[in-house]
Amino acid sequence: MKKSAAGTPLIVVSNDDGIRSPGIKALAAAMLEIGDVVVVAPDRERSAAGHSLSLSHPLRVEETSPGWYSVDGTPTDCVNLAINGILRRRKITMVVSGINKGANMGDDITYSGTVAAALEGTLLGIPSIAISLATWERFDFDIAATFAAKVARNTLEHGIPKDTLLNVNVPAIPEPEIRGIRITRMGRRIYGDAIVRKRDPRGRHYYWIGGDKLSHEGIPGSDLEAVESGFISVTPLHLDMTRYDAMKSLRRWKW
Ligand code: MN
Repeated sequence: MKKSAAGTPLIVVSNDDGIRSPGIKALAAAMLEIGDVVVVAPDRERSAAGHSLSLSHPLRVEETSPGWYSVDGTPTDCVNLAINGILRRRKITMVVSGINKGANMGDDITYSGTVAAALEGTLLGIPSIAISLATWERFDFDIAATFAAKVARNTLEHGIPKDTLLNVNVPAIPEPEIRGIRITRMGRRIYGDAIVRKRDPRGRHYYWIGGDKLSHEGIPGSDLEAVESGFISVTPLHLDMTRYDAMKSLRRWKW
């Protein structure tokens, strides 16, 4: 394996849209301007895989081109495998996940494979960033890729607080219309009818999960609000999900 020159950052790139997604190609190209890049990504789309790790079946890895590893697993598997397996002898500077087709904001981030890949990097002690493009239609990754490089450079310079990942969402609007950058908090979506019930050709019912994203609660300073208003959103997410102020009242329950 090629050895990095001393001081050259080593960046692991992953995603949940699969290794053939144009979003990961744009991201890997942007990261190449900052350091050495190794791509470890799912062999197919694994969106909404959440933070799942494959423990009951083997993982196959194929180096499809130099430095590009395709894995038949989840985004979490990919980052774990990159850090603990493929690159175990090398010092990884950063994990960057994306660029996702579609936003990852508000409570959606708990389903997100894009965010989960960055979560895995964070859990394993490496500064990690998730980046998503807030559209389902027209995918122009240029602005998001340029911004990803900016986030990565800042991360190199300032670091990211321990147990924290950066969740970045870029509005899908032309560059002149982007109003700036907002440091945000997690918002909250309001969903429409979340389950579609239909009948299959053999007469059995099936269900399709995923309602319309109607709107969001108007939480001031939220990721959803920022992107809706034309800003790039950067949310620091903490691994500690403890609700500290609930501990006291729980202790008063009759145990
Ligand atoms: Mn995705």
